[in-house]
Order: sequence, then C-alpha cells, then structure tokens
Amino acid sequence: MPGFELFGAEERKEVNDVLETGIYMRYGFDGPRKGIWKAKELEQALCERFNVEYAQLTSSGTTALTTAMAALGLGAGDEVIMPTFTFVASFEAVLSVGATPVLVDVDDTMTLDPAAVRAAITPRTKCVMPVHMCGSMADMDALMEICKAHNLILLEDACQSTGATHKGRALGSIGHAGTFSFDFVKTITCAEGGAIITNDKDVYTKCDAYSDHGHDHLGGADRGADGHPHLGYNFRISELHAAVGLAQIRKLDRFLAILRNNHEIVKAALATLPQVEFRRIPDPSGDSCTHLSFFLPDLETARNAAKAMKAAGLPAFHWFDNNWHYFRKWNHLQEGATLTRFPEQLAKDLAAYQTKQFPASDAIIGRCISFPISLAWTDAEVRERAEKLTAAVKSAL
Ligand SMILES: *Cc1c(COP(=O)(O)O)cnc(C)c1O
Repeated sequence: MPGFELFGAEERKEVNDVLETGIYMRYGFDGPRKGIWKAKELEQALCERFNVEYAQLTSSGTTALTTAMAALGLGAGDEVIMPTFTFVASFEAVLSVGATPVLVDVDDTMTLDPAAVRAAITPRTKCVMPVHMCGSMADMDALMEICKAHNLILLEDACQSTGATHKGRALGSIGHAGTFSFDFVKTITCAEGGAIITNDKDVYTKCDAYSDHGHDHLGGADRGADGHPHLGYNFRISELHAAVGLAQIRKLDRFLAILRNNHEIVKAALATLPQVEFRRIPDPSGDSCTHLSFFLPDLETARNAAKAMKAAGLPAFHWFDNNWHYFRKWNHLQEGATLTRFPEQLAKDLAAYQTKQFPASDAIIGRCISFPISLAWTDAEVRERAEKLTAAVKSAL
C-alpha cells in the first residue's frame, strides 16, 4: 500500500542534498543553503501534479487539517459535518480550533451519506468535511451541490487518497481546500508530513502564516523582519522530510499504476463469490486502489472473514472493531476526555455523544472489510494473495 514499500536511491539522493548543506529549516539561511529549497520545490510539485494554484506543506496531515480549518475561519460555535468513519485526526482537528464535530452516517461509499448531511444542517453549520477513505472518494457531486445550496465551506480530508481523482479532478482540489497526509503509511510518504492545497489565495496566505507562528514571510532573507498578521503555531515541515516527499511524488504515477493493476487482479478473484458486494465508488476510474473494500452479508460473517484472513497470514481491516477509525470505539470522544477544558458550547455539544447511536453506519461498517493492496508484491504474489483472500472469505460464508 504505502510509499515506504518502494523507498530507495531517489529518496537518499534528495535527503543527501539537504545533509550536505546542513540546513534543515525550510525558511531563511539563504546563503548557507546553497540554493537547496526542498519544501518549496515539493509545494511547486504538488501544485503541478494536482493542478492547483497553492500548496502549503505542514508537519503532518493532522496539522494540515488544523491549519486549513483556521484559514477557512472555523472556530468556536461553528459546526463541521463529518463522517462517523474516518481517522481520529479528522475530529481532533475540528476540536483543536474549538469547533464542534457533527458526526453523520456513512453510506456504501464508506463516507458521507449526502442525505445524512442534509439532515444535519443547522444555522450553526459552517463546513462539510468529506473524508476520502481507503483510497477512494465521497459522492462529490452531491456534496458540492449541498454546500453550494447552503453556502457552506467544503473541506476535503484527502489524507488517505493522494492521487485519486473524481471526474478528472484530484481529490483535495475540488472543495475550498483539501488536505493530504504524508505520514509513514500513506500512499506517498515524507516519514511525517502533510499539505493543504487550494485555489484560494487568501486561504493559502493564512495557511502559510498559521503554520509558522504567524510569520507573513514578507521580510525577505531576515526572518526577524517578517510581520505577524495573526497568531500561528509551529506546524512546519523540515527540509529532510520534504526531501523524502520530493522523491516520492515523482513516483506517484508509478505507484498508482501498480496499485491499480494489483487491485484489479484481487478484485476479479473475490468477485467470483456472489455474496461479496464491493464498495460503491462514484467515479471508479479515479480510485487510487490502495485498498479493496467489500461488504459481507452481516456483521458475524464479516468478523469471521477477517479472522480467517488473518489466520491465512493476510492483512484485514474490519473497521467496526477498530478504535482509530470508527465512532463505536472512540470512547475518548464520546466521553469528551480532554486534559484541559473545552469551550462551554463545545463541551455541551460533545455531551450528546455519550448516548448517540449510529445504526445506519453500524449496518455499513459492521459488514465492511478493507484489504490493503501492496506496492511490493511480485506478479506471483498478487495472484497468491488473491487466491488466499478468496478462499478465506469463502470459508466464512
Ligand atoms: C492519516 C490521516 C490523517 C492525519 O495524518 P497524519 O499525517 O498522520 O497526521 C487525517 N485524516 C485521515 C483520514 C488520515 O488517514
């Protein structure tokens, strides 16, 4: 699945460029850095590859989300509609700006159900945040229409879907802003890193400053001469991390071709089982194919299939029983467990989660299994995995 599986001379070369100058900071040190600006170069590469005007690197996908939310003006009292199925980082980011995460059901796309989004809109709703999970996409046509009709911000969490597209447009580039993660297990990696992409100059300018203590970066070579139009934090990426990402983004198309090829072979094998239904993909040609996600007839069958897959030495994500990705086991969110204190309104809003149930999401996620697709398999290994997967799932039916 992830870029770290194909890591080698290209990454070493880029990192070495930085090691040779000894300048690990992305800003300043204009003389000693000898023309090496890896973070700037990677931002340029992101703009070109994803056809957007602006890209801002950050230290992680989580800080990219926080930065994007701040730049989009989300804060205390605002409601952000997001899915019950995502990585914990999505709601962490909402909470970090003091806004309220409004969780709504997912459908068979494994992300926001447009009808559930419509039903959740209140006068406090400011933003809809689809999360393009497991390499594929939300129903972007429906979500764009809702956001337009209600004048809402559309922020795409594309952290798991770098390189995927919807009707030819890169995921992350469709809404007002989008975020990527380049953490160690993502499609392309910086080891740790993230990015915000946008076509909105104002949003970009705010991201640029917010992720570096509010520096406006207008002081030239002298950081001390920068102004501080607003608060910010240190969410910077280092030159070393950006260097790794630069080597990786050049390989993205190769990664996608391998993933799509392997995915097709595995899917064709599993499709021989009539009880297996596949995830609905609004634009199948845009799937980045990092996972093959499928539904089994019921929760028990899915649990047994995941067990059989693991017994056969295969990876299996049965999200229903996982405490990083699905509401059911987010006890710390349900309990509003924080080390400090939430703003009053937010604490009140979060209290509702103590008793909240999502039966429609349970019915989807309970039956769902995702099988990660590897970049490193040989042709023979892909076929072997496809056969083993099919046999394991069949044994549970
Ligand atoms: C990985 C991930 C993030 C956060 O990225 P990090 O770089 O690990 O901070 C956010 N959202 C989703 C959906 C993710 O999978």
